[in-house]
Parts: sequence; C-alpha cells; structure tokens
Amino acid sequence: MLDNSRLRIAMQKSGRLSDESKKLLAQCGIKINLQEQRLIAFAENMPIDILRVRDDDIPGLVIDGVVDIGIIGENVLEEEVLDRQAEGQNPQFKMLRRLDFGGCRLSIAAPRDFDYQGPECLQDLRVATTYPHLLKRYLAQYDVTFKTCLLNGSVEVAPRAGLADVICDLVSSGATLEANGLKEIEVIYRSKACLIQREGKLPTEKQALIDKLMTRIQGVIQARE
Ligand code: ATP
Ligand code: ZN
Repeated sequence: MLDNSRLRIAMQKSGRLSDESKKLLAQCGIKINLQEQRLIAFAENMPIDILRVRDDDIPGLVIDGVVDIGIIGENVLEEEVLDRQAEGQNPQFKMLRRLDFGGCRLSIAAPRDFDYQGPECLQDLRVATTYPHLLKRYLAQYDVTFKTCLLNGSVEVAPRAGLADVICDLVSSGATLEANGLKEIEVIYRSKACLIQREGKLPTEKQALIDKLMTRIQGVIQARE
C-alpha cells in the first residue's frame, strides 16, 4: 500500500537535471541515501520520498497527482501541457518557482548552407524534433505549417541522414549543432528547471512541509546569486 502521508518528490534519475536537483534537495537539509538503481529513496530526517524517473514522466506524474512535487525543465513541462491540451484535456498544476539551473534554449537549426530569411522559409519543410507542440505554437504565429519527424534522440543527425530538412532541438553551447554541420537559425523557447506542485489541497502537514522547503530553497538560491 502506498504511504500517502509522506511528501513525494519526483526528480530526474540520471541526466542533465539530476545532479543539481539532488544538490538542491540536499542543501535544503533533506538527508537522502540515493542508491543508484533504486526508483524510490527515503529521506532519513523528514517524511519525504524521492521518486527518480525519466524527466519526460515528471510533468504527467504531477498533473495526474501521483507525486506532490516535481523538478522539471520548463521545456518538457510545457510540451506535455500542450500535448494534453491537444488531446482535449485540461492539465492542472501549480508553478512553485523557477530554479537557477537547467538553462537551455529550444532552437530551430538548419544545414550550414541553408539560405534562411525568416520563419516563412520553413513552410512545408520536414522538421525533426522532440517538441512538436512548442514548435507548432511558435510557427503558428507566422502562419507557417510544417511536417514532423518525431524523434526522442539523435535529432541532430536527421538532416544528414535524409530524414528531415531542419531540426528543432535543445541547445546550450551550440557545439553539437556545429559538429553536425548545422547552424542555429531561430530560438523558439528559453527554458530553466522549475518546481511544480500538484493541483488540489494537500493535508496541512504536507503543505506546511512544502512551504518550509520553499523558504529554504529561496535561501539556497539567494545565497548562490
Ligand atoms: P531522460 O533519460 O531522463 O529522459 P533526457 O536525455 O531526456 O533524459 P537530458 O539530456 O538529461 O534529458 O536533459 C534533461 C533536461 O535538461 C532538458 O529537458 C532541459 O530542460 C535541460 N537541459 C539543460 N541543458 C541542456 C542541453 N544542453 N541539452 C539538452 N537539455 C538540456
Ligand atoms: Zn527525457
């Protein structure tokens, strides 16, 4: 039986957000003994369970109320919300705060010799991406429609492999684009990690614990600025 009295926090198991997420929770005074292969870790000194999952699963876990809190990139969160809305759902959650890590941008990139004059140049092209909804929302502003090549990895090799004309992918330094003969032509979304809470009223003690953690996070982030 699930223990509903403990605060459940979802974070990425391994990837670009996991070290900083772990560090943030530790700096808030949560003593967790993370064992590499374990899905769940229990805090020793507070009624908190840490769920370690693929980042893509975190927005859904919070929206569906499976966990109380999630640490997630805004890019993944926003894409999930748009995806659910496209399916006629009305996804709900509370944005607790933006965090000071996980910064990246979602950009459109094209082969180096592509003569880019503006979003209109992308009309009817095939775009390889993991973020079709964010891209659609962006290009709709210019009345541009496109064809999708949906990939969850290796997006940057799609043009060379003849799978797509251009790509829309996360960029931090641009080195990966360069290495694949691509150039960044349009930034469509700037993202950071954020902390979200599930919708609905939580038991008083749980909410009090979240409030206490939020005060600590505020202090930790301020001290780092
Ligand atoms: P998982 O196995 O959990 O699904 P993943 O491979 O999808 O992991 P990561 O590459 O670890 O995801 O990235 C997780 C998040 O880190 C991204 O969604 C984004 O919010 C953030 N991020 C920060 N910098 C970058 C970057 N340079 N490239 C990709 N993501 C970045
Ligand atoms: Zn992922």
